[in-house]
Amino acid sequence: MNDFPARAVVDLGAVRGNVRALAAHAPTAQVMAVVKADAYGHGLVPSALAALEGGATWLGAAQVGEALALRRAGVTGARVLAWLYAPGAPLREAVEADVDVSVAARWALDDVVTAARAAGRTARVHLKVDTGLGRNGLSIGQLPDVLAAALAAEAEGVVRVVGLWSHLAFADAPEHPAVRQQAEVFAAAVRAVEAAGARLEVRHLANSAATLTSPALHWDLVRPGIAVYGLSPVPHLGGSDRFGLVPAMTLEAQLATVKPVPAGSGVSYGHEYVVPQDTVLGVVPVGYADGVPRHASGTAERWGGPVQVGGRRLGVAGRVCMDQVVLDLGPDAREVAGDRVVLWGDGRDGGPTAQDWAEVAGTISYEIVTRLGARVPRTYVDSERDGTSTASLAATRGGAW
Ligand SMILES: *Cc1c(COP(=O)(O)O)cnc(C)c1O
Repeated sequence: MNDFPARAVVDLGAVRGNVRALAAHAPTAQVMAVVKADAYGHGLVPSALAALEGGATWLGAAQVGEALALRRAGVTGARVLAWLYAPGAPLREAVEADVDVSVAARWALDDVVTAARAAGRTARVHLKVDTGLGRNGLSIGQLPDVLAAALAAEAEGVVRVVGLWSHLAFADAPEHPAVRQQAEVFAAAVRAVEAAGARLEVRHLANSAATLTSPALHWDLVRPGIAVYGLSPVPHLGGSDRFGLVPAMTLEAQLATVKPVPAGSGVSYGHEYVVPQDTVLGVVPVGYADGVPRHASGTAERWGGPVQVGGRRLGVAGRVCMDQVVLDLGPDAREVAGDRVVLWGDGRDGGPTAQDWAEVAGTISYEIVTRLGARVPRTYVDSERDGTSTASLAATRGGAW
């Protein structure tokens, strides 16, 4: 019995292998696997554990709540950094749970100090500096004052300034002059902070793109996210296989209905696709509520987001609806209700990938996987341990997963 006629199958062996590949790209740095946003839609705890097995020694969470969820789930064998929070965040719980916290504003340092005193423990702090992204982080002008306050708190034993870090604006364009400029600003900030007396344990700047393409920016720790899940951060420079990565998530569904229709029949809302000949339509019971992007709808001129069914590559016919999409299976369709349809997967058998969907929808693969809907169950396989791969699941027909 299937409670829901689709599922995301996540290959933990792929996650593990991707982290090993990333570590090989950055042999002089530690690896922080970024697991924010439910591990980019792949499921927080199983993905985090697989990343640690692959050699990551740190986990990166955006929100404090995500970091606490890791600790509550018993993930204790790694450092965890949380870097995005607003006043009132549960920082005391974070300090008690041995979570490293970023400081990107003066109020944040004050709140961390208060939290550490309440917890009766030293808080480990990473000062975030805005080297040119124009987003979160202390401006270079703010850094000296906040550093001085942080070092004063360190002298009291309340905090320990363990990290200085920043984030790149053009990491996906390694030759862009802004990358070099940010790198220089960061190096100068490191020198200034160390000259002021900070004993930094980790200096970190590189996301997936910089991990794979800019070795000079690896410093002590790299922070890959999307590449942990096997997707290329720089598809214009190379796909997953070029970097030794394997996409970990396969989104598959069962055909709900299959029916013949005459030539000229309109398909889905607005009839933006009209079948050119007598044909067979198949309904796939996932839609934009499940993360299938509506921008990947098909039109009269072209099919939309790609799918694989019965070894064939087809595309969405007409508009993506909230709960379903329609396929034009062609006049000779052999498919039956219950058959497996793959929306995206590792692409190794010629099937579609999240990157393919991103291109059709005019977005990036990050958005495709992170927006997978909450009602889609995640299931886990492990191609390294039990030999189950998504390809072997492909053999199933007629409703038996
Ligand atoms: C999300 C994020 C990362 C990971 O980025 P990817 O492009 O997915 O590798 C690293 N650092 C920070 C600050 C982030 O917000």
